[in-house]
Amino acid sequence: MVKEFSWDNISKFHNRSNQLFVGLTGGIGSGKTTVANIFQEMGALTIDFDIIAHKVMETGTKCFKNIIDYFGTQILDFHGNINRKKLSKLVFNNIKKRKKLEQLTHPFIYENFFNHLKKISNNNPNSIVQVVIPLLIEFNLMSFFDKIIIVYVPCDIQNQRVIIRDNITKQETENILKSQMPIEEKLQFADFIIDNTKDLVRTKNQAGNIWNHLINASLEKINKTK
Ligand code: ATP
Repeated sequence: MVKEFSWDNISKFHNRSNQLFVGLTGGIGSGKTTVANIFQEMGALTIDFDIIAHKVMETGTKCFKNIIDYFGTQILDFHGNINRKKLSKLVFNNIKKRKKLEQLTHPFIYENFFNHLKKISNNNPNSIVQVVIPLLIEFNLMSFFDKIIIVYVPCDIQNQRVIIRDNITKQETENILKSQMPIEEKLQFADFIIDNTKDLVRTKNQAGNIWNHLINASLEKINKTK
């Protein structure tokens, strides 16, 4: 049984930690995974909410069963796994269903996240931890993080990249975009913005500059808690 998740628990944990917690967010297809990989190469540890969401929905889990009870077997593929494309189509057109899916998955996602966090904190007490959360701002999770990085691309490029990557229609991408806060509104919450509109060399250069700031912030945090 999943315990009721509370960000207070995480905040208490966070306040005792030497680790620098960085929230990495941005709209769908803005380049969060691409940028997270760059920071990971530089030395950041990564927790990705998309990967956790995949894991908790794996066939046979409690979360999987709850989702099938509500949405039915129509969202399964040939092998009996949840077809995320089908599920996504159902929920992005329907706010009630989207909220229901959040209700069914979030306790499991948060529990998995907290367990993961505790594990990497024990093993790497002075590290920089980036947490990739697509809806960090929408779910008002800003106060948990020491620093927030937003990956920015304008809406038309977001559209183009997602259509190519996921082989979906313009209408489907637009439905997903409509369910998220417009990227321009998110920018006010950023400590750092990475403009990922152009080529990857430029993105890497920006990430390199930000990494230097993160190292300084991390050292400051470690010295404060000494
Ligand atoms: P999602 O919100 O769906 O998880 P994301 O924000 O993690 O997506 P990525 O998967 O990193 O975004 O990038 C989306 C697509 O855009 C990918 O196909 C990626 O290869 C491509 N991409 C990322 N950055 C660039 C860039 N600077 N130039 C061209 N293509 C890019």
